[in-house]
Amino acid sequence: MAEFTMDLNDEQKEVRDWLHGFAADVIRPAAAEWDEREETPWPVIQEAAKVGIYSLDFYAQQYFDPTGLGIPMAMEELFWGDAGIALSIVGTGLAAVGVLANGTEEQIGTWIPQMYGDAGDVKVAAFCSSEPDAGSDVASMRTRAVYDEAKDEWVINGTKTWATNGGIANVHVVVAVVDPELGSKGHASFIIPPGTEGLSQGQKFKKHGIRASHTAEVILDNVRVPGSCLLGGKEKLDERLARAREKARQGGERVKNAAMATFEASRPAVGAMAVGTARAAYEVALDYAKTREQFGRPIIDNQGVAFQLADMRTSIDAARLLVWRASWMAVNGKPFTAAEGSMSKLFASETAKKVTAQAIQILGGNGYTREYPVERMHRDAAIYTIFEGTSEIQRLVIARTLSGTPIR
Ligand SMILES: Cc1cc2nc3c(=O)[nH]c(=O)nc-3n(C[C@H](O)[C@H](O)[C@H](O)COP(=O)(O)OP(=O)(O)OC[C@H]3O[C@@H](n4cnc5c(N)ncnc54)[C@H](O)[C@@H]3O)c2cc1C
Repeated sequence: MAEFTMDLNDEQKEVRDWLHGFAADVIRPAAAEWDEREETPWPVIQEAAKVGIYSLDFYAQQYFDPTGLGIPMAMEELFWGDAGIALSIVGTGLAAVGVLANGTEEQIGTWIPQMYGDAGDVKVAAFCSSEPDAGSDVASMRTRAVYDEAKDEWVINGTKTWATNGGIANVHVVVAVVDPELGSKGHASFIIPPGTEGLSQGQKFKKHGIRASHTAEVILDNVRVPGSCLLGGKEKLDERLARAREKARQGGERVKNAAMATFEASRPAVGAMAVGTARAAYEVALDYAKTREQFGRPIIDNQGVAFQLADMRTSIDAARLLVWRASWMAVNGKPFTAAEGSMSKLFASETAKKVTAQAIQILGGNGYTREYPVERMHRDAAIYTIFEGTSEIQRLVIARTLSGTPIR
């Protein structure tokens, strides 16, 4: 087990500086354009692929860093550059992690390369779980997967929504109900290979922020995939369902805890994205406050402004500490006895929303225009309190964990 440390080692510093350079030189200058266009920034993803930032290898290296700091450090730097573009770069990772976590070696080897493509022909992937009537309440999912034994095929029907890269992905990972009796324990994940008939893009959403990231509905109309597209395989699914039925009979407690541990481990990465956006807005506000003069002196000479900056920086550092602690705990198998992963996501995402609003205030009228980036950063920051579980759901998880009672 790696000791918890706040000091990045030389290798980590090198990676951080390299990512920062890419964020500053490639992502940041493209941010306003792709926000206005509201389109996937393919040329930027291609650049990221060329230098090795858009690849499974890169994320796997960061993920398996025993200090736990690889992923949060990478997310913070990329999202410091721009949240919409960074999500276009890391969004495929959501689907890839779905396959890594549940797939067989053969599935990992077959599908993950097709999710990323290569530098000459980049592809993206989508992870589709949310539905119009199943957002926070994942258990009410309706998309149904039925096994056609005669053909060894799964037939999938339903509508997914809010899917990052939905409809433009080369590979979609779709979560569907295989046993409605078991609630969220009766779900399974499926690969939908490129060009599969019956999968189509529904509405593409016009969003408040992260507009360079494509978000859309995905319609599944009698989609047929081979048995080999069930992640983990049929035998493992049957065993898991049998265990879930047995545990449901005994009260279901252990199954619930296993699912929760997975979320606790993934949420700090979203917290790190929020830290990146908050830090970016804070830096713009600090520079502006030092140079903007009113009443014959820089506005930072006023406590009213300087204290805001002090509070902003304090919250950002506190958020990073919570994120790094939870990431270290996840990699080192520490039990999340106080829902520390949810805590980090809750605090960092609320910090990003608040800090980016404070940055607009410090820039005054300029902050309210698209001439300066804090307006975009504030719009972007709102997403962190919504996806991967809203702030209310994080509070619910933390409160339930602390109290041991099923708070509603
Ligand atoms: C830009 C974007 C990208 C996304 N990307 C993906 C993706 O790639 N794949 C995917 O599967 N999903 C994705 N999502 C979906 C996202 O995870 C959901 O939007 C989120 O889980 C919330 O669900 P909902 O929107 O249905 O809100 P709802 O669940 O309807 O919640 C509405 C409000 O009610 C509150 N609320 C609900 N239940 C409770 C409760 N028990 N106690 C207190 N308050 C409650 C919520 O906190 C929220 O404030 C994305 C969403 C967005 C906006």
